[in-house]
Amino acid sequence: MSLPDSAPSITTFRGRLRELLAREGLEGPRRDVVILAVDGIPFELALTSWRGARITPMRSVFPTTSSTAWLSSLTGLDVGSHGIPGVVFQGPGGGTLNVFQHQGPLHIPETGNIFSDANALGYRALAVMGDWEPFDCTWRDALLRHAHPVRGHRFYTAPSRAAPTELGQAVLRAVSDCLDTPSDGPRLVWCFIDADQHIHHAGYDEPLVRFLECLDDVARQLTARGALVLAHSDHGLTLTHHRPELERLMEQLQAEHDCVLGGAGRTRWFHVHPAREDRLVGALERALPSTVRVVPADTVFDAGSLALERVGRVVLIADGDEFMTFLGHRFEHGSTTQVELSVPLARWLE
Ligand SMILES: [Zn+2]
Repeated sequence: MSLPDSAPSITTFRGRLRELLAREGLEGPRRDVVILAVDGIPFELALTSWRGARITPMRSVFPTTSSTAWLSSLTGLDVGSHGIPGVVFQGPGGGTLNVFQHQGPLHIPETGNIFSDANALGYRALAVMGDWEPFDCTWRDALLRHAHPVRGHRFYTAPSRAAPTELGQAVLRAVSDCLDTPSDGPRLVWCFIDADQHIHHAGYDEPLVRFLECLDDVARQLTARGALVLAHSDHGLTLTHHRPELERLMEQLQAEHDCVLGGAGRTRWFHVHPAREDRLVGALERALPSTVRVVPADTVFDAGSLALERVGRVVLIADGDEFMTFLGHRFEHGSTTQVELSVPLARWLE
């Protein structure tokens, strides 16, 4: 099944959840609501793995990068508005920063998120930090703002890698601990599981599929206990062959044109002085494969937006399966292939 162009953006997740929470109050006693946030899961794989759920497609944002997409889902803001265009970009101080390490101002607008909505509707909002635990940074604080953070449950970033069934049990334990804590009202529990860590290296292999099937079991068990269970994802990943000569080219061009490479995965950009832009673009167009697009930033980021201010002037987007990857990754994301853009919103059937 292909993703219809009309699939709603992941920026609609916040509003849809708010409506669902508000309706709960009208239809009888309000249930606890559990949201499994599973990084890196494409729509089509969710369809075949989460058999107990009704699943609809959503369209991720560009770039299909975790920091960008999760913030869009939880706040409802598009990339131009929240101003987090990827991993490496120009910060408020002028230099480039890595958003997963940066501790300092980011000027992400405070317009509320799923947790402030839940609090306003009488829920106790809890965020199982999960695989975000190792990333102590301003971006994570902004993402989880208004939630009570719950530590002590890591899954794909745990010191030793567990088997799929053990990972599923760890998720069940984390969520159950939250549901067992005393609360005056119902709880909203959001739990982050970074399957992306596994998929980068191994792809959508048998252990990953098995884990997703275990999550289906976990969701059914939580539903049987009376909770309303949802799941969503941020992007899929696509096979990407690392071309070392492209990595060398990027290093050479940064030195030659006195510029810095930012972005992440399959979408990168050059922070280059306007006077040097034409020569840089010429060099890129001569050397890159035809499957790598070279475009001006203002054609892919909104005019006047915070995101456009923060990215480099020249953007590279990998449309094919040849580009650069980090750390031996075989699967990457960040660009606009179907598998990267098409993500699930799942609701388990009562
Ligand atoms: Zn991600």
